[in-house]
Amino acid sequence: MDTVSNNNANPADTSQSGIIHSQRYYFNSGATKDIQFRIKQLTTLKKAFLVHEKNLYAAMKSDLNKSEAEAYTTEFGITIAEIEHNLKNIRKWTKPVRVSTPLFFLPAKSYIRYEPYGVALIISPWNYPIKNLFGPLLGAMTAGNCCVLKPSELAPATSSAISKMISEFFKPEYLAVIEGGIPETTDLLKEKFDYILFTGGTATGKIIYEAAAKHLTPVTLELGGKSPAIVDRDINLDVTARRIVWGKFTNAGQTCVAPDYILVHKEIKNRFITRVNEIITEFFGKDPSTSPDFGRIINQKHFERVKNLISGDIITGGLTDASQRYIAPTIIDNVKPGDKVMQEEIFGPVMPLIEYEKTEEAIAFINKGEKPLALYVFSKNKKTVDKILNETSSGGVCINDAFVHLGNMNLPFGGTGNSGMGAYNGKTGFETFSHKRAVLKRSFLFDVKQRYAPYSAGKLGFLKFAMKKLL
Ligand code: NAD
Repeated sequence: MDTVSNNNANPADTSQSGIIHSQRYYFNSGATKDIQFRIKQLTTLKKAFLVHEKNLYAAMKSDLNKSEAEAYTTEFGITIAEIEHNLKNIRKWTKPVRVSTPLFFLPAKSYIRYEPYGVALIISPWNYPIKNLFGPLLGAMTAGNCCVLKPSELAPATSSAISKMISEFFKPEYLAVIEGGIPETTDLLKEKFDYILFTGGTATGKIIYEAAAKHLTPVTLELGGKSPAIVDRDINLDVTARRIVWGKFTNAGQTCVAPDYILVHKEIKNRFITRVNEIITEFFGKDPSTSPDFGRIINQKHFERVKNLISGDIITGGLTDASQRYIAPTIIDNVKPGDKVMQEEIFGPVMPLIEYEKTEEAIAFINKGEKPLALYVFSKNKKTVDKILNETSSGGVCINDAFVHLGNMNLPFGGTGNSGMGAYNGKTGFETFSHKRAVLKRSFLFDVKQRYAPYSAGKLGFLKFAMKKLL
């Protein structure tokens, strides 16, 4: 058990407000500001993960039928890698950043201090129950905050495994897990936090934003939406098909950055479909319901929702089994903008295909919708790629692959417009959970009297000169 010094807040008070009160008290003690403390906590977190590795895999298997290989790459392994990345860089990131000072203020020095906000709240969804909770937490811990974690009630086994792991290794006045659903989160949001990072649906994001506004709490909103993939005719077909099948059907399509729908060039469409079908069989066998590597829909409600999106020109899959919450990898061809499957984020193993002929058509299609979280372009043609980059907007872009841009900790991960605001990942996470405090330190020398009243015409002339030439 990691120890943190005791404080006068009542540790026996395990109510939500009791926990937040003790975290605030602990934060105010200054303990978490110490870089050595942060390093120790990040190291402890890594240890906690290693001790609980098997429990976490079992929980994700139970909640989502996630295979160990998938859970390792997309949740566990990436989190451990990010802990190591943060540990390697924390001393560099936390150093004050010197900036230049205008001549008028010299002699002086100016710098930016990265300071923790205080007590942060992280609310996460069920689809990547480890990555979406601990990715933000690493930023919060590296920045020196205390933190309340609210995992999703829809992945109950993982939520409980996380709660057990955190309470075993950390005192609640530093890190606490509060489990529960909408009522518990609604109560939590009545409390004043110093920062909130929410990951989930756009509709819930609006509720969080409104609740945070009552306390003027800054927020990062990591939301969802329909992330398109454009498949140009000038591609490596085999690699494109393989990467899209992987991106779409990992976690049974329940990935915020999964390619939601595919805009495919008319000239390549038939060959693309043939290869995608072959690869689905290669990955999951002739009957994906028997594959240990193909996930299940999280619950009955989502199963019904996704099932109801399947209609029209179904060229692959379409099979469902309510008893297992299984939906086969499904492809729908000739999809129109008005079709049901295009009215909401799919968040399931259903791939709509929309044919296009000119790049402008694909761009116009995307620009009619909300700004997506991710945009995928598969093309060898630089001009086509540049045109798409220049004429669209999205949280992130991945060219010639699907969702691996999240794995680069040097890139921010976040949305724009309806897909969210703010970002995290590696250094960006540290910056998100840090207040950038501006410091200008002047000398007592050279106290220019022209800046003080009473003002004469001569003083004003000097001030105009100073504003133009010395600032
Ligand atoms: P959700 O919005 O239903 O739930 C997310 C969290 O908010 C959960 O912890 C839940 O308990 C809480 N919550 C739900 N309704 C609430 C309410 N009315 N008041 C207060 N709290 C509430 O989302 P979900 O179904 O868990 O996740 C799926 C969504 O999350 C998809 O839209 C997906 O695209 C998005 N997502 C985004 C990212 C990202 O990084 N941008 C990552 C994963 C998932």
